Amino acid sequence: MSKKFDLELISKVANNLTVGIGIFHVSDLSDNKSIRYVFMNKVLLYEMRKEKEEVLGKKIIEIAPEAYEHEGGLMVIDTYMKIANEGGFINLGLVEYSNHMVAGTYECSVHGIMKNYVYVQLRNVTELEKAKIELEKANKELKQFTYIASHDLQEPLNSIISFSRLLESSKYNLDEIGKKSIEIIINSSYRMKDFIIALLEYSSIGKEKKKKKIDVDQLIENLKIDLNNLIVQKEVKINYIGNPLTIIAFETDLIKLFQNLVVNGIKYNKNKKPTIIINATEKFGQYEFSINDNGIGIAKEDCDQIFKVFQRLHNRDQFSGTGIGLAHCKKIIELHDGKIWLTSELGKGTTFYFTISK
Ligand code: ADP
Repeated sequence: MSKKFDLELISKVANNLTVGIGIFHVSDLSDNKSIRYVFMNKVLLYEMRKEKEEVLGKKIIEIAPEAYEHEGGLMVIDTYMKIANEGGFINLGLVEYSNHMVAGTYECSVHGIMKNYVYVQLRNVTELEKAKIELEKANKELKQFTYIASHDLQEPLNSIISFSRLLESSKYNLDEIGKKSIEIIINSSYRMKDFIIALLEYSSIGKEKKKKKIDVDQLIENLKIDLNNLIVQKEVKINYIGNPLTIIAFETDLIKLFQNLVVNGIKYNKNKKPTIIINATEKFGQYEFSINDNGIGIAKEDCDQIFKVFQRLHNRDQFSGTGIGLAHCKKIIELHDGKIWLTSELGKGTTFYFTISK
């Protein structure tokens, strides 16, 4: 049966591949024990810890009887039978395989070649899967830690604020230095509270479980309503110049992203009438958004810094803030498999760009 294939040619090609490739012949389509090995490339032989001579021409039931003894193995065998009969291909996703020498997780797909013949493609992802689980665990712990730390930190702060307020009251007759000190303590405590709240918000990004359909025009209209006071007070113009668009995204996170970028465009702006222009286009299978302002601009050398947590370019006497907003935006964009970047000219304005996968 192997004469149907030029095994020498197949070996030349398949032995250089980094995935495991195996060709099987099913001589009797009603008997799942009739499957034989026709060809195995080097990667697959290594994964099975077998020599070529040990397996070629033999039946699976002779070489790997354990495949018939557990659910995962039987599922693969059944797939060989189905594809050998019907053709096409089936992606089995992650499959656990083990024999007395190896145990691991493999990405596995089965493809038809001609009636009675199939080939299997296998990639060992055991280490990758282990690393993924470890990373998920570490991320979860870190999130929990940030949440607990910031939550618990607020309690002593609240006590500091309320006892300072008590001391501030006239019955303690504080002198000028005492009054000034209490004022500083209260202001610093409130600032620390802002940082803690920002940290809490940062640690809660990605908590939303499901993405939703979001109408971009509607999102911007809602944003204008939320920012109404600021818009009226500073005579802000916000224009959306893109086409009507519906995207799939985590809603709360996306609102936060637009809010941070638009508020920054208004805040870091000395114009009498700040103007924010929002655009959206479809590029390379992604949506690319831009948020442009006519504000103070950002120097080229600072463009990377500003995405780091607590990084600010101005002190709080110039502009209020915690320096976490853009770190937030970056995290939200990464959650949507996108990128964020900017172009800017000092004194003229800034445009933030971000992509969101379709
Ligand atoms: P915050 O606004 O709380 O300081 P951000 O992370 O949002 O924190 O921004 C970090 C820094 O980047 C700001 O302190 C500011 O100096 C600069 N920045 C952000 N957006 C703009 C903008 N649109 N124009 C000019 N500077 C900006």
